[in-house]
Amino acid sequence: MDFDYTEEQLMLKKTVREFAEKELAPQVHDYEKHGPLNREQTISFIKQLMPFGFYNGHMTEEYGGSNLSALTYAMINEELARVWAGLAGLIWIAGSQPSNDVPDTERNEVRDMIRAGETISAGAISEPDHGSDASYMSTIAVEDGDDYVITGTKTWISNGPVADRITVHASLKPGGGRDTIRTFRMNRKNHPWQVVRNNELFGLKAWANGELRFDDVRVPRTHMNDPKASAGAQGKRVWNFQSPRTMLATFATGIAQASVDAAIRYSQDRVQFGRPIASFQLVQGMIYEMVAETEAARFLTYRAIAMQDKGEDSTWQAALAKGFATEVAHRVASHCVEIHGALGLLEGYPVERYFRDGRALSIPDGTTEIQKLVVGRRLTGISAIQ
Ligand SMILES: Cc1cc2nc3c(=O)[nH]c(=O)nc-3n(C[C@H](O)[C@H](O)[C@H](O)COP(=O)(O)OP(=O)(O)OC[C@H]3O[C@@H](n4cnc5c(N)ncnc54)[C@H](O)[C@@H]3O)c2cc1C
Repeated sequence: MDFDYTEEQLMLKKTVREFAEKELAPQVHDYEKHGPLNREQTISFIKQLMPFGFYNGHMTEEYGGSNLSALTYAMINEELARVWAGLAGLIWIAGSQPSNDVPDTERNEVRDMIRAGETISAGAISEPDHGSDASYMSTIAVEDGDDYVITGTKTWISNGPVADRITVHASLKPGGGRDTIRTFRMNRKNHPWQVVRNNELFGLKAWANGELRFDDVRVPRTHMNDPKASAGAQGKRVWNFQSPRTMLATFATGIAQASVDAAIRYSQDRVQFGRPIASFQLVQGMIYEMVAETEAARFLTYRAIAMQDKGEDSTWQAALAKGFATEVAHRVASHCVEIHGALGLLEGYPVERYFRDGRALSIPDGTTEIQKLVVGRRLTGISAIQ
């Protein structure tokens, strides 16, 4: 796998790093101590970050994007996550591109809002009783003339409390399994849903998360995504988590890199027993492990993303990267806390945030256990679950 980055990629990465360190880093704690960003704050950060390629940079020119490759988009997201992972996640999901089968009128409306940086997206799969096992979801879509009527509760939804657009997964038949699941595009103005709870998580605090209720929400048939677009070889519906999983792995790599950088810097400055703590072999041993795991996480992540850029199937490589990199993020952040001693536990000092944020990333889009089952299924040909 060839990772000779282009001049443009390196320049963009450097520019984002400088902006994030100078402009964003000093603000993170002040924002996060007040919990998730509200809608107005989210839109304001979207507009600040769009010129660097965030939010819509990976989209076509029609959406105001610049067709950034998945790898370039990941590189800038890693830099943002290195400074503020919660913001990186929020803006990534906010800028989800509409599917290709969207009718022209809807497409034009969404396109204009994306170009202006004024729409916030969300995607809803998880439910109170269906997390890892999302195939048998309880949210139901009942056909009624030219509409579908959607009823159910979705929880842990990233951006849920601040979103104006959402893609909701619902089953056409109670207990019908994954072949009966369809996705419906809703916008809050025409298909209102309720935010029943803001979930305040201990990590990724800037990133709004909530529980949403859909009570008989009527959606025109034209707002149902074409199931054929996500059908597998036998026409069975398959989940496609490749891109989100590698983006979460990218954020994890950014947090791990932040931890490595902070640990090296601090170990050079902190003096104990008359010497910098970096001179102790046990501390160097920790730094070795942190660097080895972070580099490995980045290679696995970029390998899967490079496959996606080539249009190759990266199902197990993306699952491997997500499972590995998110576990690495909290192991490496934990070493970083150790190297900082009590300072590593101090609220408001960034190190404790790396630890909290790194821990949170192993759960969304499939826990580490689920990633292991995806890799196991692909490599052995035997599924541990249905
Ligand atoms: C920060 C964050 C953002 C999120 N954003 C979204 C979002 O935008 N949209 C959305 O739909 N959802 C979202 N989620 C929800 C997330 O996808 C679920 O939390 C996740 O799929 C796990 O489901 P659960 O929490 O119900 O845990 P459960 O499925 O109940 O799992 C509990 C434990 O059991 C283990 N387990 C379950 N089944 C198996 C098995 N077969 N073998 C081995 N172990 C197993 C799990 O690994 C876990 O350790 C988000 C979650 C978080 C934390």
